[in-house]
Amino acid sequence: MPDESVSKFWTDLLHLPGFAVVHVREDEVCPRYVITVVPEHPVGVCPHCHRVTETVKQRRTRDGILDLPIGSHAVELTVRVGQFECPHCDRCFTPPIEFLAEGAHGTERLLGRVAELIRHSDVSNAARFFGVAEKTLEGWYYDYVARQQPDPDRTPTGPIRRIGIDELSLKNGTDSSSP
Ligand SMILES: [Zn+2]
Repeated sequence: MPDESVSKFWTDLLHLPGFAVVHVREDEVCPRYVITVVPEHPVGVCPHCHRVTETVKQRRTRDGILDLPIGSHAVELTVRVGQFECPHCDRCFTPPIEFLAEGAHGTERLLGRVAELIRHSDVSNAARFFGVAEKTLEGWYYDYVARQQPDPDRTPTGPIRRIGIDELSLKNGTDSSSP
């Protein structure tokens, strides 16, 4: 995509903060956009010594990541990120991709929408809507729900709730990790 304004258009439309669109391919058979994104600022903060580096050792590609649809098209992302080599402590690391849902081939915002749909409908309808196998989507959904901050109003009642509170008070009472 040599035209910068086209690239900017897609970057703005996709709205994944910190990432720019470098390529878009339209698949007309099963209508979808396959969009390639790269970090806007290829720098990484070393998780070992917490210093910033720009030394990219190699490029890594994650593809087949489902995102929210655009118009009547499904959206599949290809993400190109760098694996960095820290010149300060000689260790390699790949920065986490913030918008990716952990353990899923989907974005966190897609999973948010999936969860909403499942709450008002069911897994099978959500799976049909997003074109994902039911079992797969169910797994993504439970992982997503587990990642959300515990909401006391939504904590299941009964023994599980009590165990949760006991664990919490135990943690608070014995926490000596903070300086
Ligand atoms: Zn380092």
